[in-house]
Amino acid sequence: MRMDLNHLLNSLIPSWNSAGLLLVYFTYLRLAGSVLPGKLVPGVTLSDGSRLYYRCNGLASLVLLVALLGLGAWADFVSPAVIADRGLELLSTTFIFSVIVTSLLCAVGSKSSSQSSSLKPYVTRNKLNDWWLGIQLNPHFMGIDLKFFFVRAGMMGWLLINLSVLGKCFENSSLSQSMILYQLFCLLYILDYFIHEEYMTSTWDIIAERLGFMLVFGDLVWIPYTFSIQGWWLLYNKVELTTAAVIANCFVFLIGYMVFRGANKQKHVFKKNPKALIWGRPPKVIGGKLLVSGYWGIARHCNYLGDLLLALSFSLPCGISSPVPYFYPIYLLILLIWRERRDEARCAQKYKDVWAEYCNVVPWRILPYVY
Ligand code: NDP
Repeated sequence: MRMDLNHLLNSLIPSWNSAGLLLVYFTYLRLAGSVLPGKLVPGVTLSDGSRLYYRCNGLASLVLLVALLGLGAWADFVSPAVIADRGLELLSTTFIFSVIVTSLLCAVGSKSSSQSSSLKPYVTRNKLNDWWLGIQLNPHFMGIDLKFFFVRAGMMGWLLINLSVLGKCFENSSLSQSMILYQLFCLLYILDYFIHEEYMTSTWDIIAERLGFMLVFGDLVWIPYTFSIQGWWLLYNKVELTTAAVIANCFVFLIGYMVFRGANKQKHVFKKNPKALIWGRPPKVIGGKLLVSGYWGIARHCNYLGDLLLALSFSLPCGISSPVPYFYPIYLLILLIWRERRDEARCAQKYKDVWAEYCNVVPWRILPYVY
C-alpha cells in the first residue's frame, strides 16, 4: 500500500518531457488551426455590436494529427502508449500550465485599455474571483481566440488519451470487448463534436463566460483527464459483458445520440430559420420565439437527456462492480440539473409570459414526466 502511494506520488511529479509534449501539441494546434481549410463562422453579435469569426477546422486538424501520429508510430518514431505511460505526470503538468496561463491572462487583461466587448477588462476588488472567472471575454494571443482554442485542445486531448490507452492495451495484449465499446462510443461522440464544431460558437461558454481558471482548467484538465477515467479503469480491470449487455449498451448510446444531436440541431435550425420543418411538419412556436415541436415539445432541455444517456453509455462497458467509471455520468447529472435550473431562471426573466406559457404546454424538465 505504501509502495503504491509512493508510486502514485512519484507519477504525479510534473516533468520537462511532459511540458515538451504539451508545447508540441499546442504548437501543432496553432499551426493547423491557421493553415487548414475550414468554414469561417461568425459568432453571435456582442453587446457593442461587434462579432468575432471562428475558423471551424477542428475536424481537419484532428484527422491530420491522428494520421501524423499513426505514421510516427508506424515508423517507430513515437510510442502509441506515450500518453498512457505519462498520464499523471501530464495531468499535473497541464494543471500547472493552466495556473500559469490564467495568471498571465489576469495580469495582461487587467492592463487592457480596450473598450470592446471582447477585450474590455472586468476587474472587481476580489482578485481571487477575477482569477477564477476571468477578466476578459475573448482574449487573443498571436491571432488566436484562446477560449475557442482551449476547448478544441481539451476535446482533442480526450481522444488522444483514449487512443494512447488503446495503444497500451495492444502493447499489453489486453484488448477487451469492453474497451472496444468504450473507445468506439467516445470516438463517435468526439468526431460528431468536431463535425458540428460551429455549434460551439453560440454556446454559453463562448458567448458569455470570461476566460478565467474555471474555463482554462475545465477545458485543458477536466475534460481530457476526467472524461477518460473509464478508459484508464478498463486498462487495469477486466470486465466480461454478455451479448445482451452489449446490445443494451449500444441501444443506450444510439438513443442518447439521437436525442442529443436531434434536439440541439432542431434548436440551431429553428434559430436560423423559424419556418424550417421539424420531423417533416411546420414547427409549433410559442410567442414567435420558443420551439414547441420535436424534442423541445417532449421535455424542456431534452438535449440534456441525450447527453446524459451518452455519458451513461460510455460507462456501461465497465460493468457495475465499481462506482469509479461512473464518475462522468454522475458529475454530468449534477452539472446539467444545476445548469437547467440556472437556464430556466434566465429564460423566465428573458421571455416572461411566453416562457410561462411554454412551461404550461411542456411541463416536463429534461425527462418526460419529471417536473
Ligand atoms: P442549450 O443548448 O440547452 O441552450 C439553452 C438556451 O436555448 C436557452 O437559454 C434559450 O436561449 C434557448 N432555448 C431554450 N428552450 C428553447 C425552446 N424551446 N425554443 C427555442 N430556444 C430555446 O444549453 P447549453 O449550452 O447548456 O447546452 C448545449 C449542449 O451542450 C447540450 O446538449 C448539453 O447537454 C451540452 N453540454 C455538455 C456538457 C458536458 O460537460 N458534456 C456541459 C454543458 C453542456 P435563447 O435566449 O437564445 O433563446
